[in-house]
Amino acid sequence: MELNKLTAHELRGLLDKGDISSIDISNSILGAVEKKDKALNAIVHFDREKVIERSKASKGLPIFIKDNICVKDEMTTCCSKILNGFKPPYDATVIKKLLKEDFILMGKTNMDEFAFGSSTESSCYGPTKNPWDMERIPGGSSGGSAACVAADEAIFALGSDTGGSIRQPAALCGVVGLKPTYGRVSRYGLIAFASSLDQIGTLTKDVEDAALLLKVISGHDSMDSTSAPVSVPDHSLKIKDDIKGLKIGIPQEYFGQGLDSDVKNCVLKAIEKIGQLGAKCEKVNLPHTEYAVAVYYIIATAEASSNLARFDGVQYGLRAKDAKAIIDMYKKTRAQGFGDEAKRRIILGTFALSSGYYDAYYLRALKVRTLIKKDFDDAFRKFDAIVTPTSPTPAFKIGERTQDPLTMYLSDIFTISANLAGIPGVSVPCGFTKENLPVGLQILGRPFDEETILKIAYNYEQATEWHKKRPDL
Ligand code: GLN
Repeated sequence: MELNKLTAHELRGLLDKGDISSIDISNSILGAVEKKDKALNAIVHFDREKVIERSKASKGLPIFIKDNICVKDEMTTCCSKILNGFKPPYDATVIKKLLKEDFILMGKTNMDEFAFGSSTESSCYGPTKNPWDMERIPGGSSGGSAACVAADEAIFALGSDTGGSIRQPAALCGVVGLKPTYGRVSRYGLIAFASSLDQIGTLTKDVEDAALLLKVISGHDSMDSTSAPVSVPDHSLKIKDDIKGLKIGIPQEYFGQGLDSDVKNCVLKAIEKIGQLGAKCEKVNLPHTEYAVAVYYIIATAEASSNLARFDGVQYGLRAKDAKAIIDMYKKTRAQGFGDEAKRRIILGTFALSSGYYDAYYLRALKVRTLIKKDFDDAFRKFDAIVTPTSPTPAFKIGERTQDPLTMYLSDIFTISANLAGIPGVSVPCGFTKENLPVGLQILGRPFDEETILKIAYNYEQATEWHKKRPDL
């Protein structure tokens, strides 16, 4: 039996029966990583000896972590040169929770620099490849986490989602990606991109594993002032209930121009299937959808420019060597340490926040954000969930969009609104294009109602075979 190919809930069963031990699972993962990751480049920090040592001392499951989540005394670089060599002096809250449940930390996964991107091409360690087609991107920014799960180099992984960075790579790699409600999972120890949008979530092989992992990482945390004081429900049983009578909205704004025809066909068939399972699917309008990308790139860059101010060569990572005095040192460190996309966002965000432009751009964007959220509030008065495509296109070729930031920004047109509204979303595999590239179905829910979207995702998944398909590597 190739243990690396199993899900966490299957492995948990075998562990509990005493049929296997944690070291057996880790060995099988190590084998897969050593065989495949040279070509795939999904994993950026990895220490074989440490993994073996940890696995011998544990009865838990192995997990990979996106490189923007702090692990004490382990390289945490956001795949940026500016954090080269940085080892945090503390664990993120999610890491503490995993360790408490005996999970084995395997290593860090590749990502776009500071999670800026939709393709994992802006990493200082080079791009991750899509396991379904090595000439294509895996999506981003959590592309390393999605690719290692899809390639069976991992059982599951954590990612982060600011505008789609879990759901979009999950869709493009054919795995399940869950972005919880804003505030459900503590952001303490997640290196901030845009603090009002960032949320840690899961990349898994099936929906049951997403529910299992969500339970472990959720919960109120006094170290994160935006963490919500809500209880942590166990969804793994409830998601198996049927979905008869649930009302599902299909937003018309998500099926227009720019949607790939194969993606559209897969999603429409999936909606039909969900209807056959007993849910009632009806059209709905989310009229402010067209402003989401513009609003997002003002708010996200404004927050990013402020969050990145701390990387100045004094406290973390890289410090330019040839500087004459302190201002010169700041300038040289930031010029050498940040990549092009990070610089672009710092400039854009600083502009949007500068006096004279603040009202016209940042403040206006905040107002439209409220309208986007209101669209969802209105829709959720009538509907229990909203179903859309996750990404307008399947995985594109490496290099295809790197010279064209606007086209790259449009990759997240369907996922961004959920972050602006703070609501939960999950992407589940729903078919393949003619070129055999995976397609994802996005299910959005009411705040803190992960249960309903996971239930719809689970029922759909169990009625189809998509989640069982694996790339031929
Ligand atoms: N692709 C979007 C961006 O570039 C979202 C990234 C994310 O969710 N971290 O900002």
